[in-house]
Amino acid sequence: MTEKPDLSGRIALVTGASRGIGYFIAKELAAAGAHVIAVARTVGGLEELDDEIKAAGGETTLVPLDLKDMAGIDRIGGAIHERWGKLDIMIANAGILGVISPIGHVEAKTFEKVMEINVTATWRLIRSLDPLLRASDAGRAVIMSSGAAHSAKAFWGPYAASKAAVEALARSWADETKNMPLRVNSVNPGATRTAMRAQAMPGEDPDTLPHPSEVAAKIVPLASPELTETGLIFDVPKNRFTRYRMPE
Ligand code: NDP
Repeated sequence: MTEKPDLSGRIALVTGASRGIGYFIAKELAAAGAHVIAVARTVGGLEELDDEIKAAGGETTLVPLDLKDMAGIDRIGGAIHERWGKLDIMIANAGILGVISPIGHVEAKTFEKVMEINVTATWRLIRSLDPLLRASDAGRAVIMSSGAAHSAKAFWGPYAASKAAVEALARSWADETKNMPLRVNSVNPGATRTAMRAQAMPGEDPDTLPHPSEVAAKIVPLASPELTETGLIFDVPKNRFTRYRMPE
């Protein structure tokens, strides 16, 4: 999947749009013609995105929000309903790593925070936006996962568990909506040159990794009205869909 979709007139929401992969997904969606609703905490990052998109002739709505504010997530759904009555594209990209540590050493508050942002906020976003995506003639949802959801790697426990959980949510949602136009898929972006990757692998040379703009360009076709797949995982490094499987 390498084709650039035509997203003219479509409404797209991206979480974690202030930096990293989400920033470039938001830019790419806007360049394809979508009105981008950009969600994150860091106002400076959102404003930079807004400047770039508007300078290129695109449209944005900025939503500075901490995703631990569950009522705030509900309000987003209400505001989109009032303004547009539907949502065409949801990219649930925001996420945190937590800590790389033996499971027994993870502090309770760290584990809870990873689950709160990566899992509970994603479920709450789905709950808030599902009726709006169903109202679209070609609703598209992308849930950002990770290779960690399927690998069996020491020290990645909380993050891996959170990503396996959101993939499970995405698969259930895809099955619930399989007879509708809505298509729901997870994505493994693969190792990408971002702040999160640098936190996870501080000894790694970031220049050996793909830039988030390259990764974003491979994810945006999942928002295309032409997409037929649902309930799958798109693996960016392999540039293809895979079905869920347990590690061998
Ligand atoms: P970054 O750390 O670069 O960006 C994370 C984004 O999530 C930021 O925009 C941040 O915005 C937002 N975010 C984090 N916490 C919150 C919060 N409480 N409320 C609102 N927004 C929040 O990460 P990446 O771009 O690397 O990661 C994007 C996604 O891709 C994540 O889900 C990650 O798990 C996944 N991924 C990344 C890989 C990689 O190698 N980079 C590999 C596999 C998966 P702000 O701080 O402004 O709120």
